[in-house]
Amino acid sequence: MKHLRIDLREIPDSGLRLTGTIPQDIFDVGDEHLRPASALTYDCELSITGETLLVIGDFEASFELECARCGTPFVYRLRLHGHTIEEELENTAILDLTNTLREDILLALPAYPHCDEGPDARPCPAAERFDTSDHFIPISAEGRETQKSNGNVWDALNDLKKDSE
Ligand SMILES: [Zn+2]
Repeated sequence: MKHLRIDLREIPDSGLRLTGTIPQDIFDVGDEHLRPASALTYDCELSITGETLLVIGDFEASFELECARCGTPFVYRLRLHGHTIEEELENTAILDLTNTLREDILLALPAYPHCDEGPDARPCPAAERFDTSDHFIPISAEGRETQKSNGNVWDALNDLKKDSE
């Protein structure tokens, strides 16, 4: 298993830019509901201020989640932009950020994912059903069309009535 290990001695005063990927194995934490769909990519700047290592960067990983609305599995691409990690420095030369990063990523995953959310969104088949049930409009587009034209017919009849009154 590859980790995101930082050798603190390699960070110059001006800071260090680090890019790369960590295999998705780091998410194998014994949770069968957690299905990573890609490696974790990172692009970050490291700097040391006093006794603190500061990491700011972009982190991205994909997971297969199940839509809380329609139950369809879909791939959710999680992006943490400008994400900050601060680590207190102890007397070590090597710092392993893997655990911290894994936790930050998992915490950022939506608890109730919807397949029409996220950067690779598609329309949720259940979303329309939920919306329309509030308004008592038939589910299918065809049905809605019928209702609409019926409405027009009644409107037309009403207009006729008004005219004759
Ligand atoms: Zn859905």
